Amino acid sequence: MNLILLGPPGCGKGTQAKILIDTYHIPQISTGDILREAIKKESPLGIEAKTHMDQGSLVPDHLVIKIIEERLKQTDCNRGFILDGFPRTVAQAEALDTTLSEMGSKLEYVFSIEVDDEELIRRLTGRRVCRKCGESYHIEFNPPRQDGLCDSCQGELYQRDDDKEETIRNRLKVYQDQTSPLISFYQRKDVLHSIDGIGSIEEIKKRLLNIINT
Ligand code: ADP
Ligand code: ADP
Ligand code: ZN
Repeated sequence: MNLILLGPPGCGKGTQAKILIDTYHIPQISTGDILREAIKKESPLGIEAKTHMDQGSLVPDHLVIKIIEERLKQTDCNRGFILDGFPRTVAQAEALDTTLSEMGSKLEYVFSIEVDDEELIRRLTGRRVCRKCGESYHIEFNPPRQDGLCDSCQGELYQRDDDKEETIRNRLKVYQDQTSPLISFYQRKDVLHSIDGIGSIEEIKKRLLNIINT
């Protein structure tokens, strides 16, 4: 099975991806996580990506497309994958179609998770992320059992640089301008499912699983 989690920053893509991994045993591929890893290592990709990410703008298409092409060829994707945060532009979506058809595969589900801007800002300003495994927490809506520590791996929780209010506003605008056109792109391909993203993490999970199971 393969699927895309599409939606604005903070809608819950990463949170739901982690739940789907446990249910379906297929990998989560998050371009954001891969880019943050590259920044940590100070690789050429990381150095280039950082300038865009710090402003809340998108990293150039050719860089993220290359990341995905390489990642999808790895053997753990043979049984499927969850794309979280990719594609984010029509050019990326078209490149993905090409890569998948070369692999003899095609997309099964695209879930568009819908959340209003006010709620997104509340979720992003309170988000804390595990440095080790990338799991997302929220200081109010989804707190860790122990303050500042990841439940799954005991890693340290931190606030992402781009989760500050000024950068968040730009990211929401970038989503509207560059990523939301993908909703009609995938509607035309008949793979889009819109999900109401307001509700508890458990409720959103049930909405996703309901569609997959029918
Ligand atoms: P969020 O989960 O809050 O939407 P991500 O971790 O997915 O954030 O992305 C963080 C940043 O990484 C983005 O603002 C962008 O700069 C960069 N990025 C991640 N994925 C992509 C992509 N597919 N195309 C371009 N830039 C990306
Ligand atoms: P994305 O990957 O789409 O940027 P995340 O999964 O990181 O979003 O979630 C953003 C923030 O919102 C995190 O702090 C997360 O704990 C919290 N969150 C996720 N789902 C929900 C939900 N259904 N209700 C309230 N908060 C949520
Ligand atoms: Zn962790």
